[in-house]
Amino acid sequence: MPTPALSSLREEREKNGAGARLRPPRLTRPKFVFIYVRSWLNFCVKIITDERCAGYSYPGHPERPLRILATLELLRHQTELPVEWAEPGRVSDAQILRAHSAEHLARLNEPEDFDADTPFYENIADFARASAAAALAALTAARNGESVFSLMRPPGHHATRDRAMGFCYLNNIAIAVLEAAATGAKRVAVFDFDVHHGNGTETILLNRPGVAFFSIHLYPFYPGTGSANAGNNCFNYPVEPGLPRQDYRATLARALDDLKKFRPDLVAVSAGFDAYVRDPLVQGVLVADDFYWLGQSLRALGVPMFSLLEGGYSRDLPELIFTYLKGVEEK
Ligand SMILES: [Zn+2]
Repeated sequence: MPTPALSSLREEREKNGAGARLRPPRLTRPKFVFIYVRSWLNFCVKIITDERCAGYSYPGHPERPLRILATLELLRHQTELPVEWAEPGRVSDAQILRAHSAEHLARLNEPEDFDADTPFYENIADFARASAAAALAALTAARNGESVFSLMRPPGHHATRDRAMGFCYLNNIAIAVLEAAATGAKRVAVFDFDVHHGNGTETILLNRPGVAFFSIHLYPFYPGTGSANAGNNCFNYPVEPGLPRQDYRATLARALDDLKKFRPDLVAVSAGFDAYVRDPLVQGVLVADDFYWLGQSLRALGVPMFSLLEGGYSRDLPELIFTYLKGVEEK
């Protein structure tokens, strides 16, 4: 029996034809000094990617690897934005287990679908680990003062501590944020502008000291959560379907203002491009310009920042990502 939330996603798809510590840590832990200087050398954006991340697919599923390959193609051949390419590296079990249960990590190897939206694929655990490793590499680059974007599949913000769901297997952003917190970051903000609520990130980061989560999303839509704030650090900005673009953008601006008041020393962005007006999954209203503005506004915060690709199912995804990156670089 599918849950109401999952059937609501299926309905959306069908409707739109998209296929439907006891020791004092200060003396013993490594210290990181967060001096944010964008050096003269960093006038380029680092893209962390691995083409092999597009190596899984399911007929009719909205996740289409071709969109990632098309984004790679566009970024390789454009001349406006200097790009430095990097590969994901590795993630340890210990790093994953800050965000997920050992049972969940083991479950990723069992050849059985997780739910109707989230199939089991051969080697999905390796795909998920590479995407989480890219998030960690993005964190490192951000700490080095670089502009950085992780262009990987699978996405992560719906994956909870114990469950793969909504096309997500490991919660990449939560893994990176918990790594940041464990290695010296004092105030980390997550800004999630994917059109769907980042339910997994919220449940993993709920009430964690030094971490705040801000999610702007259409409600009620998949996964059916995010109607109100949660705990003492998760702030939700549900947008009613049908609200005009300027109101959606005003809500994004309000969330950004609240994020500023949190005074983060690091910003992690769940960059989903499915609030776009032509996205096939939901009734988004944003246009490409809005993603430029988002990139620009996030960079204007003036603290280290990294972005990870979450959703985005339109054919225009490559252009939207490129526009966002130009906003980050103010090009
Ligand atoms: Zn989404």
